[in-house]
Amino acid sequence: MNASILALGKIFHSQEPVSEQQLSSLFDAIGVPGDICWRAVFQMIFDPGFKGYPGAGQENNRQKMEQVMHQALHIAKRSAYSKTTLLDLIKECNMAFVSVCHKELSDALNDLDEFAREFKSICLTRQGNIETLEKETLETVASELSIRDKIRQVKIRFTHTIEQFQADVVKLDHLNNTDHLTGLYNRRFFDRQLMQEVDQALAEKTWLHLLMVDIDDFKRFNDTYGHQIGDQALKTVAKHIRAACQAESENIGIYFFPTRYGGEEFAVILPAVEPGQAITIAEVIRKKIYQYTFVIRTSDGTIKHKGLNLSVTIGGAALDHKKSAGAVSRRDILVKEADAAMYAAKRAGKNQVKIW
Ligand code: GH3
Ligand code: MG
Ligand code: MG
Repeated sequence: MNASILALGKIFHSQEPVSEQQLSSLFDAIGVPGDICWRAVFQMIFDPGFKGYPGAGQENNRQKMEQVMHQALHIAKRSAYSKTTLLDLIKECNMAFVSVCHKELSDALNDLDEFAREFKSICLTRQGNIETLEKETLETVASELSIRDKIRQVKIRFTHTIEQFQADVVKLDHLNNTDHLTGLYNRRFFDRQLMQEVDQALAEKTWLHLLMVDIDDFKRFNDTYGHQIGDQALKTVAKHIRAACQAESENIGIYFFPTRYGGEEFAVILPAVEPGQAITIAEVIRKKIYQYTFVIRTSDGTIKHKGLNLSVTIGGAALDHKKSAGAVSRRDILVKEADAAMYAAKRAGKNQVKIW
């Protein structure tokens, strides 16, 4: 049994793709039942053909699941691999897996829900408007007005309706790109925009930095004050990130893209920003959040908690022009390196900035 777990550990640390068959035989050797979620976790990480939940890329699954697996292997290394510890390990992996997927899914569903609601309401309003437009147009045509006045009136009404449609498109586009909780850009927008920025930076041979911002010990914060207050804190952190980006954008005249990357993680795309500036921006964000004292109020405005502090750890990376890879893998490398810098900063004690 020990040998098999060591073999899994080796697979985990290597970057080579592993066949499903190889994995299955290793699972069988350590006694993991075939239908168990843990097996799916391994497949997500090692099987390049494995399709995770819809809407999330393989790379995303891999990054999320790697954390789960690191933890699992860490526990596995400590344990004597008795049947009970193995079962505990599997249970823990299942729980971690379910919580990661559940959070992603409920976030995506919330976003979608809001979008669908808005879309439905727009459709209903517009349907009413079109019916009125039709009625009024017929009335104008049948009226005693001169041909010229009829045309003028119909034209005005049509122009107005078209303007309303255009405003709807802008509104839906905004919703489509916005995180419902924080109002920052959402993950969908981030993936698209980063790709575009990578292409542009490569074409123009300019700098491109990415910052990954993760709230420190947020699980503890949630456990202490509850999920709703956690949500309020997330909004406040997002507000600080947005404000810091806006202020620095104005200073150097370049637009940044602050995003809610997922859960309590944020990402900021910094196009055409040099390393020194990237560190300055990251430090401004970090300090703004650390220096802020949170006050939590109930819905009627009464203070519930005060004097609370949160901190964030920030990892940054720059697009490497020298690497010979396609634009998509360069984007993925950039995310991976910024993430790795963030984890290194976490290990070094949190509440700090590290650039890859
Ligand atoms: P670390 O300093 O290592 O980042 O520790 P952490 O506790 O912040 O990290 P961990 O990944 O263990 O936990 C993240 C927590 O963030 C778990 C979850 O409860 C919380 N979280 C994620 N998304 C949301 C959300 O939308 N709302 C709330 N309230 N909490 C969230
Ligand atoms: Mg965190
Ligand atoms: Mg996190």
